[in-house]
Amino acid sequence: MDGTGLARRIVADAAAAAADLRERTSTSPCLATVLVGEDPASVTYVRMKQRRCAQAGITSRHVALPASIGTSELVDTVAGLSEDPSVHGILLQHPVGRHIDERAAFEAIAPHKDVDGVTMHSFAAMGFGEPGFVSCTPGGIMRLLDEYGVELAGRHAVVIGRSAILGKPAGMLLLARNATVTYCHSHTRDLSSMIRQADIVVAAVGRPRLIKGDDIKPGAVVIDAGYNAGNVGDVDFDSAAARASLITPVPGGVGPMTIATLLAQTVEAATRQLAGA
Ligand code: NAP
Repeated sequence: MDGTGLARRIVADAAAAAADLRERTSTSPCLATVLVGEDPASVTYVRMKQRRCAQAGITSRHVALPASIGTSELVDTVAGLSEDPSVHGILLQHPVGRHIDERAAFEAIAPHKDVDGVTMHSFAAMGFGEPGFVSCTPGGIMRLLDEYGVELAGRHAVVIGRSAILGKPAGMLLLARNATVTYCHSHTRDLSSMIRQADIVVAAVGRPRLIKGDDIKPGAVVIDAGYNAGNVGDVDFDSAAARASLITPVPGGVGPMTIATLLAQTVEAATRQLAGA
């Protein structure tokens, strides 16, 4: 499954919508990125997101904060962006440092600017099937499945991983589309036998090549959200591809869809805010 190609089209659509908005309102969508400290991976992620924003005609405003910042200062900074009408979306890069109450900082993001889908409001809205922004990686996964016409209703999806930003919401979105969902995690017994029952496998673990071809039911659809050192996913691609009907590569599968979803949600947020909705 070609995430790079689909992401390119989603970004092109977002760029066209941003240009249309600029023409109608003389305002560009603006994403505020907040980075605490200088963790090299986080610096790279934020830079990549800013670069993609620029390509799509989305302004980004970067707020770099020292690693020594405390919870209340970070909450105040994020709350200030929530109240600033020239900012339409907010991305607080995780992790923010162990001494900070990250949840409190995320909750300072106004729900209508939560384009990364990290607040409790967004998570609950997704659970209740109400409108709201979804966590970007699971949102991107659903978009890929739809693009390839994967039937979800009544099919057995096995999600390996249950993090709040990835595994858990991916399972919730699949459930909302009437898949029968099984979650696996570090306490799951006999992981292989669980995965072998899956029509749709979503790997969201963070363990390089944990899932082998022998675990894949012939004809299953395999989504590999893992991204590990050395550009490897959670699935052993070659052996799994031999049995799967569809599979995402790493890189070039889920990764580009995450950023594309972020940009699309930022333009959507700006459109709604500028329309006064
Ligand atoms: P995380 O918070 O560390 O969660 C990992 C999950 O995997 C946990 O639920 C954990 O179970 C489970 N797990 C760990 N070892 C396991 C095992 N041996 N068998 C079964 N389950 C196991 O990680 P995350 O943030 O969700 O990220 C997961 C992966 O996705 C990483 O490789 C990350 O880089 C990648 N990722 C990619 C994107 C993207 O844009 N492509 C975005 C986000 C994350 P417990 O809950 O029991 O601990």
